[in-house]
Amino acid sequence: MAKKKTKTKFIFVTGGVVSSLGKGIACASIAALLENRGLRVSIQKLDPYINVDPGTMSPIQHGEVYVTDDGAETDLDLGHYERFISTRMTKTNNFTSGKIYDSVIQKERRGEYLGSTVQVIPHITDEIKSCIMRASKDLDVLLVEIGGTVGDIESLPFIEAIRQFSSDVGSDNVLYVHLTLIPFISASHELKTKPTQHSVQKLREIGIQPNILICRTEHELPKDLKTKIALFCNVDKDSVFMAKDVKSIYEVPLEFHEEGVDEKIIENLNIWTRKPDLKNWKDLVNTIYSLEESVSIAVVGKYVELVDAYKSLNESLLHAGFKNKIKVDLKYFDSEKLERDGVDFAKEFAGCSGILVPGGFGDRGIEGKIKAIEYARTNKVPYFGICLGMQLAVVEFARNVANLKDASSAEFDSQTQHPVISLMSEQKAVVNKGATMRLGLYPCVLQKGTKAFEAYGEKEIHERHRHRYEFNNNFRDQLIEAGLITSGTSPDNLLVEMVEIKDHPWFVGCQFHPEFLSSAMKAHPLFKQFIAASYQYAKRADWVGKKSKVTEALSSEEATDKNSAESA
Ligand code: GLN
Repeated sequence: MAKKKTKTKFIFVTGGVVSSLGKGIACASIAALLENRGLRVSIQKLDPYINVDPGTMSPIQHGEVYVTDDGAETDLDLGHYERFISTRMTKTNNFTSGKIYDSVIQKERRGEYLGSTVQVIPHITDEIKSCIMRASKDLDVLLVEIGGTVGDIESLPFIEAIRQFSSDVGSDNVLYVHLTLIPFISASHELKTKPTQHSVQKLREIGIQPNILICRTEHELPKDLKTKIALFCNVDKDSVFMAKDVKSIYEVPLEFHEEGVDEKIIENLNIWTRKPDLKNWKDLVNTIYSLEESVSIAVVGKYVELVDAYKSLNESLLHAGFKNKIKVDLKYFDSEKLERDGVDFAKEFAGCSGILVPGGFGDRGIEGKIKAIEYARTNKVPYFGICLGMQLAVVEFARNVANLKDASSAEFDSQTQHPVISLMSEQKAVVNKGATMRLGLYPCVLQKGTKAFEAYGEKEIHERHRHRYEFNNNFRDQLIEAGLITSGTSPDNLLVEMVEIKDHPWFVGCQFHPEFLSSAMKAHPLFKQFIAASYQYAKRADWVGKKSKVTEALSSEEATDKNSAESA
């Protein structure tokens, strides 16, 4: 069969042994190194679950839903990709089994298979391959991350599709990278290679021989173990790389480069590139590891134990810290606990220099969030409200400043006389829950003389949205009269996109999700300003922590090194 013509090289990344090995960060880091070498790179995520997209899944199950410019609700790994490389993600960068089956079934209903029996091989695998091809347009390299762990039943069609892909486009255009774990058994003080051998065996059973192994490990992987892994897994000795745990994810590209991962990849794929210039990554990591002062930010939400539920938010706050040269410590507060009678907010938030209410859905913990916002407003603690956090700031203001006692959002109280937040008109007839919100990038015009305008320094901005409810214009005049500032609106002035209040050091709410447009190299202006305001607050309250944990950890390591050097 004639090979399919392609100018793109494909790197398929699978994961073995356990989940949560950081495949997303590994892909993002490899892509960052290749981009740095001057290549046009993108990353696609293939998720084996049956949901059409993660939009309808609980953050408890799946973590954050990441929204792209074109309004796709996607896996949170796409957030890592956008934070590490400059290519923007779109709908074609994330496919699930559900989406693949959905489109095959629709084709079958239209009679496009001309009477054939529709099967996993070739119809599902063909569909997967065409999705990969579609995402490779105009690229030098496309990385494809396969979700799940090798050996899972549900990922088999994807693994089979990427196996076939090599004969479709030619094996010189394809590279298989396998990320695996080398566990450390502390009782015997040994690193173990057996799980990796088994996981590679699983891949080889299906017909995939990985070219490169990246081994996650807590401890240094000695050369003889690399040689052993190479022998048992049938890969070249110099294609087994160590990925030792690091304190910041932003160190991973440097770590991979140090190990020689990118050099090996371009050699294998026969690509000519310049050497990467990693000065900006080095500067970033130096900044991260030398932060001297720290501030604590209270994040009031529903998912206190789950960092993945607020992934982009957490990263954005850290980015703003890097920019302001301050370490940001995040303190999560369970909003349901703040609802209880007798909560002493001053005690709860003691030591916190800023309060943030992130996006959310449903009425659980709403009143706790509103009380936290009231505390921030009346005590002049910097406040940042994102999406639901902005809507609740409007509710709090309506109730406690504009005297609309039962004010609420129609999402939580359909009977209220004062629905200051209500369902958007185009949402009223919507029945299906999947992909039906106001999603993706929309323009917003800022009012001069506001904190928002000061932060962005420009009149028109573009931000990503994911919501059904909106500021209710029936109350606009009344709330403005009471002192609310509508600092950002849609260009036609019909939608209020940002609010602020007067006589407060920093109180800003936005209907959109700025956390989807922040990166470590380029902190988002609103987060930057929020952290700067929080730092000012902390200084006044004498709450500035003097040493960051990372710095402390590093300096104690340095001290140990020094001591051993001195005693040597
Ligand atoms: N639940 C609110 C709405 O749908 C807020 C959504 C969000 O915070 N992303 O409008």
